[in-house]
Amino acid sequence: MVNRMSVLITDFRAECAVEVNYNTSKKSSPDSEGTSSNFSTAIMKKQGSDGNPAPVMPALPEPLKDLKIKYTKIFINNEWHDSVSGKKFAVFNPATEEKICEVEEGDKADVDKAVKAARKAFELGSTWRTMDASERGRLLNKLADLVERDRLILATMETIDGGKLFSTAYLMDLGACIKTLRYCAGWADKIHGRTVPMDGNFFTFTRHEPIGVCGQIIPWNFPLVMFIWKIAPALCCGNTVVVKPAEQTPLSALYMGSLIKEAGFPPGVVNIVPGFGPTAGAAISHHMDIDKVSFTGSTEVGKLIKEAAGKSNLKRVTLELGGKSPNIIFADADLDAAVEFAHIGLFYHQGQCCIAGSRIFVEEPIYEEFVRRSIERAKKYTLGDPLKPGVQQGPQIDKEQYEKILELIESGKKEGAKLECGGGPWGDKGYFIQPTVFSNVTDDMRIAKEEIFGPVQQIMKFKTIDEVIKRANNTTYGLAAAVFTKDIDKALTFAAALQAGTVWVNCYSALSAQCPFGGFKMSGNGRELGEYGLHEYTEVKTVTIKIPQKNS
Ligand code: ADP
Repeated sequence: MVNRMSVLITDFRAECAVEVNYNTSKKSSPDSEGTSSNFSTAIMKKQGSDGNPAPVMPALPEPLKDLKIKYTKIFINNEWHDSVSGKKFAVFNPATEEKICEVEEGDKADVDKAVKAARKAFELGSTWRTMDASERGRLLNKLADLVERDRLILATMETIDGGKLFSTAYLMDLGACIKTLRYCAGWADKIHGRTVPMDGNFFTFTRHEPIGVCGQIIPWNFPLVMFIWKIAPALCCGNTVVVKPAEQTPLSALYMGSLIKEAGFPPGVVNIVPGFGPTAGAAISHHMDIDKVSFTGSTEVGKLIKEAAGKSNLKRVTLELGGKSPNIIFADADLDAAVEFAHIGLFYHQGQCCIAGSRIFVEEPIYEEFVRRSIERAKKYTLGDPLKPGVQQGPQIDKEQYEKILELIESGKKEGAKLECGGGPWGDKGYFIQPTVFSNVTDDMRIAKEEIFGPVQQIMKFKTIDEVIKRANNTTYGLAAAVFTKDIDKALTFAAALQAGTVWVNCYSALSAQCPFGGFKMSGNGRELGEYGLHEYTEVKTVTIKIPQKNS
């Protein structure tokens, strides 16, 4: 007997969430942890709101059963190294709290080694610097092929290491990685300078040159996606890199080391140093021979990174930091779509997204109905091991985040928000938190101001356009924002008025390799992805040549 279970996951490309159907041969109840056999999948085409079918994604295989972790060392010069200190650190599965393996712990001495390798690979005359730009593109495409080949290994790894739903890891994260690699591969031989009509008798042109050695520090919520978002644009522009993955989730980055070598990148072009923030991370941000640092993580650490750059060699800095993104729902919106996008826009990956729409402003006439439907939606969740089919919410990344989220939920209760559902931990092992919805939230409450990074939805009420614009912008963050309305005038007013790096209209979380992404205000500096993202990895050089005059 085939038993069908549906799981909604966000399709970053689509205008609607895509329904994934798992065909399982065993029976499972909605609140079970899911069945494990015959995890074959069909992707249902669902009509988007404009009547077009949502894009078809590849079929979902079963996750690997006994994944062996092969790569646990520091990757420098295309070779695997023990840490200079001899120290290692443990990596845990957040769903079971069990140790997966130990990884070599990089620190300043290892970062120094990695920077030397990256510098040598960047020297004029090196294989990398003399390589045709089109060949850099070919290598990035080759890397994309290898990621496609090993998609199942990498998706299973992301699930075990980061608590990410296997379906999400396989379809969304790996899909985004492959597309980003191919997008940047295409750019490698299209990075042009300009000729400039300079005053006088000169021929002036610009060269867009690689910056040099780039330190790249990445977070744990999208370990592989962030790794690719960092290395792909840097490499396509001809830089070399030293990457530090997050201490919670170093495994997929290290696996990528093996693929980078297999693809044929010259030694030293990509170096990967797993380790902790205040040690290995700080060694990168303070390093005198790193020319640029690119960071994704908390605003608090982003400030430290900028400070370190200022105190060392004024290295270029790009930062993608936290958010407290407003999502504004007008009474004229398509309510079904608004509820669903608001839900996915917050609960996706257990709320552990910098773009999470965590301040939902709903116009007064539909407030009660919106809250009712949001509660109904949140209560449908199946929590459990993210490797298992049918599970819709996995664990938070670690104890620290778990406790922080629970503490913020308590603050919401104490400060007078109405707890509509959830509100506490779930299960007896792993860092699970019940999907939680708060209504009657006011702007002064901590849950309305602080980034929670958990499955906790705040729903507020508004009456007028002016009021909601003011309230939406009344935050130190400015990463993303959304508005749901059928009125084009309102949509355009909000697109202009909202202080955020990305504004979505009648959708949420729609990201893609072609679109620049980054923050206003304390959500960051600079942009990643798209053509704008490439500007962050090049220096512009002006070359001026005197043209001899006929009679001089
Ligand atoms: P979170 O609070 O979500 O864990 P962080 O900003 O602390 O996010 O971490 C994101 C990345 O920044 C991780 O790779 C982490 O190791 C690194 N990091 C943390 N502290 C520092 C620091 N002082 N200097 C450089 N990197 C750091």
